[in-house]
Amino acid sequence: MSRVSGVQVRKRGMRWVLAAALTLYGCGPQQQDQRLDFYAFGTEISVTLYSVTAKQTLLATEQLQSHYADVGHNWYPWRRGELHAINTAMRSGSRVDVSPRLADIIRRAAEFELISGGRFNAGLGRLTELWGLHEISATPSALPDNADIAAILADRPGAVRIDWDQNRAGTRSDFVMLDLGGIAKGAILEDSVTILRELGITDAIINIGGDLTVLGNVRGRPARIGIRSPSNRSPIASLSIDDGETVVTSGIYERFVEIDGRRYAHILNPATGYPVDHSVSATIVHVDPVLADAAATALIVGGADEFDALTQAFGIDVALLIDSSGDVRLTQSMRERLHWIE
Ligand code: AMP
Ligand code: MG
Repeated sequence: MSRVSGVQVRKRGMRWVLAAALTLYGCGPQQQDQRLDFYAFGTEISVTLYSVTAKQTLLATEQLQSHYADVGHNWYPWRRGELHAINTAMRSGSRVDVSPRLADIIRRAAEFELISGGRFNAGLGRLTELWGLHEISATPSALPDNADIAAILADRPGAVRIDWDQNRAGTRSDFVMLDLGGIAKGAILEDSVTILRELGITDAIINIGGDLTVLGNVRGRPARIGIRSPSNRSPIASLSIDDGETVVTSGIYERFVEIDGRRYAHILNPATGYPVDHSVSATIVHVDPVLADAAATALIVGGADEFDALTQAFGIDVALLIDSSGDVRLTQSMRERLHWIE
C-alpha cells in the first residue's frame, strides 16, 4: 500500500478543515482499488473505490472534495452560508430563494416530519441553540429555562411550517429555524453516489462518519459492516449490505452537552423540548439514504414503544433500536441479516 498524494484545503476564518488523502492499493496496470479520505463538517469521510482508473480517481477526488466543502459551508445553520441566510431571512419575515438541492432536502424533511408524526423535526434549530447543542456555542452552565422551551414549542415550529412559492421559502412561524443535522449525512451520501455513478464507478463504499452507502460489491462479495456496542464500542454483530443500500446509525452518545454533571444528548424530543434519554442507538438499512437518516433519528425519539409504528410508517424493513435499559428491538428482516459475534 502506498500513499501517492495528499491534499489539504484550509479556508481562512472558517472552523472547518477539509482534507483529502489518497491511498492506492491492490495495484494492477489499468485499474486499481483506491481509498480517498476527507475531513469535512467535523466528520471523517472515507470513500473506497474498487477497480477504478487513475482518471476516475482524480475526478472523484476533485468532485467529492468540492461538494463536501460546499455542503460544509452552505448546509450548516450556524455559520454564514446558504442555510444560515435562509434562516435569517425567514426569521425577519421575508421570503427567500432556496437552491434546488436544499429546497429538495427541506421538502423531504417536511415529508418525514409528517410521516413520523413530528418525531423527526428539522425545524427545531432554536431548541438546539437553547440547549447549546450546536458546535460553536459556549457550553451552557445551566439548563434552559422551561418558559423558553415552552414558548418555542407553543409555536409548533417545523419544516412543515415553511410555505413555498416554487423554490422561494417563507414562514409565518416566529420560531422555525432549520437544522438539517438529522438528514444531512443521508443527503451527502446520496450526492456522493450521484457523483461516483456519473464517473462510471460501479463498486464503492462511501463512509461518512460511520453511515455508509455501498455501490456494487467488494471484489465479488457483498460488503460487510460491523455494529458496535453503544456502551463500550466493541463489535457485537455484523451485517452484509447489498448493492445500493445504505446503513445509518443514530446514537445519543455521539454528541451531547454536560450540564451539572449530567449529559444531554443532541437528539431532541420535539414533544417535550428535552433531549432524548430513553433510546441509545438506532440502525437502519434502506436503499434511500435520506429516508434512512431521517428514520434513524425518528426511531431514537419514538423509542421502543413506537418502533413498530415508525418502521411501518417509513416503510423500513431492516431496523434495530437499542434503548437505555439495553433492550434491543429488531425487525424480522434485521434479525435474519444480523450475525451476532459471540
Ligand atoms: P442524527 O445523528 O442523524 O440522528 O442527527 C442528529 C442531529 O439532528 C442533531 O445534532 C440535530 O442537529 C438534529 N436533530 C435533533 N433532534 C432532532 C429531531 N427530533 N428531528 C430531526 N433532527 C433533529
Ligand atoms: Mg438522522
